[in-house]
Amino acid sequence: MAFKPANNIQDLQYFGEFGGVNPSISDSSTYTFLSAKTMFDTFEGNADGCYLYSRHSSPSNLYLGQALAAMEGTEAANVSATGMGAITPVIMQLCGAGDHVVSSRTIYGGTYAFLKNFIPRFNVNTSFVNITKLDEVEAAITPKTKILYCETVSNPLLEVADIPGLAKLAKKHNLQLVVDNTFSPLSVSPKQLGADIVIHSLTKFINGSSDTMGGVVCGTQELIDNLRSVNDGASMLLGASMDSLRAASILKNMRTLHIRMKQHSLNAMYLAERFEKEGIKTVYPGLKSHPSHDLFTSMMHDEYGYGGMLTIDVGSIDKANELMEMMQKENIGYLAVSLGFYKTLFSAPGSSTSSEIPEDEQAEMGLTDGLIRFSIGLDNDIERTYEEMKKCMKAIGVL
Ligand SMILES: *Cc1c(COP(=O)(O)O)cnc(C)c1O
Repeated sequence: MAFKPANNIQDLQYFGEFGGVNPSISDSSTYTFLSAKTMFDTFEGNADGCYLYSRHSSPSNLYLGQALAAMEGTEAANVSATGMGAITPVIMQLCGAGDHVVSSRTIYGGTYAFLKNFIPRFNVNTSFVNITKLDEVEAAITPKTKILYCETVSNPLLEVADIPGLAKLAKKHNLQLVVDNTFSPLSVSPKQLGADIVIHSLTKFINGSSDTMGGVVCGTQELIDNLRSVNDGASMLLGASMDSLRAASILKNMRTLHIRMKQHSLNAMYLAERFEKEGIKTVYPGLKSHPSHDLFTSMMHDEYGYGGMLTIDVGSIDKANELMEMMQKENIGYLAVSLGFYKTLFSAPGSSTSSEIPEDEQAEMGLTDGLIRFSIGLDNDIERTYEEMKKCMKAIGVL
């Protein structure tokens, strides 16, 4: 039977401890034990169902982790305070001094900065490659390589990773394929396509209300146990654990993720087609003109569409800024970073979310300074939105 990510979330049954339809929130940082022996066993990792301390785990965090593991079809998951709080422990857990990472060069700015500037302090080095060229990826692999790292749909250029192709390479060279699926929850299920580890920033579409940060690592039970180990687990020891109240609120928002993703995709597709027709340089995986349109189509669950992210290029940073300021004034959306909100959000990545990437490297990867990244909102009347956007574009002369 086909893998149905939203059904897997829906089918989980939780009762609150008093019969509530939502699980009770575990508003505690520490937990009592009925015997000292059980406490000892729990620290040794041998007392299933016992909690020791909320940096390690809490009932609320485990519920959210279960839902995310169900969504991605992995054995287990570990939630964290932020997306970066999921990404950095995975890299540090899998790599030690002398090890090597092969990563897509078009990734989230924070991840890029971590791999490029931070982790080399621990003698873990990264080769950045064009992820759409499998031969270039393979050529960068060395005997020291441990991780193949990419985003399903990359930030901000919306390049699409060939997950089945990369999974084959990972298997051949005994690497872990780590995929950040933040831009395409439900649309693409990387684990089903061969990825070993799937990461999300929950801050974005999955929570969807821009009121909290969060992250998750989805993988085997063994990986999750290793990350949480009190002795040498990177998640446990680096300490970016999620708060239980937030885990409970994100779990509630997750239940409408499938409805929201469909609307984000519908709206983004509508706008992308219109912009392109007007002659604006538009990048959206749903457009036939996207170089990886067929690849994305072959990997996706049709019903959730091509996602809510699109970019346009208006030629210069001045035009980009002018247009964004006007669109905000007209209440089309907000000039803000991040994504997955009910309102459209827009920003110029070159001077914001990707400013960690040096200008010459930005140019090389095609990140131009007139680029505007949109996270298209849940607008009920996208035709009206389009008409408003068109007025702004005409006013500043990009149409
Ligand atoms: C935002 C983002 C992150 C980082 O997540 P935070 O929750 O901000 O720490 C990682 N990857 C991608 C693709 C993102 O968009």
